[in-house]
Amino acid sequence: MLSQHSADINSFPAFTSLKERWPTYPALAVASLADVTATIKNAGLANQKAKGILASLSHIREAFGDYTLEPLRQMTVPEALGFLKSLPGVGPKTAAIVMCLAFGRHAVPVDTHVHRVSMRLGLVPDGVSADKAHNLLDAQVPEGKAFAFHVALLDHGRSLCHAQSPKCSECPVCTMCRFKPKAKVKRAGS
Ligand code: SF4
Repeated sequence: MLSQHSADINSFPAFTSLKERWPTYPALAVASLADVTATIKNAGLANQKAKGILASLSHIREAFGDYTLEPLRQMTVPEALGFLKSLPGVGPKTAAIVMCLAFGRHAVPVDTHVHRVSMRLGLVPDGVSADKAHNLLDAQVPEGKAFAFHVALLDHGRSLCHAQSPKCSECPVCTMCRFKPKAKVKRAGS
């Protein structure tokens, strides 16, 4: 939640500050909104994020009797994603990150890189929202490959398939790409 719309260089120190000030979730849950907002200010949208964090902690305690997400292990993936997305400030990407990275379940996190590369490779329709792309990619990616798929497309988006000026001449999957037909021709003939 802290990293939403924020670079790692800003959100990581905010997370460290939060954990130093309140090492446990019960301690954080009774902190004031003003204190939490001030502590995470480097992450940006601090007031909005602090409200979401505190409200989510309250919601989780109410649902599960403790500050834990362990009961999600007993749920189906759609049920667990539904619960996570019901938390204030938690959308499809954050929910999928929790399911995929924390629980090793089948949910593909779609960040800006995964979204862009998926469209360029024709895995999802052009112009589809990142939110809708989650369901489309979950259905296509083989069970057990969600994390590997996420990391592969993330790496590709960061290293070659940039939003502006992608390095198509170096792309190992250019023949699959429908975004840069000239690049495909150039590579095929090179
Ligand atoms: S050919 Fe270019 S636009 Fe297409 S996937 Fe490769 S780097 Fe991205």
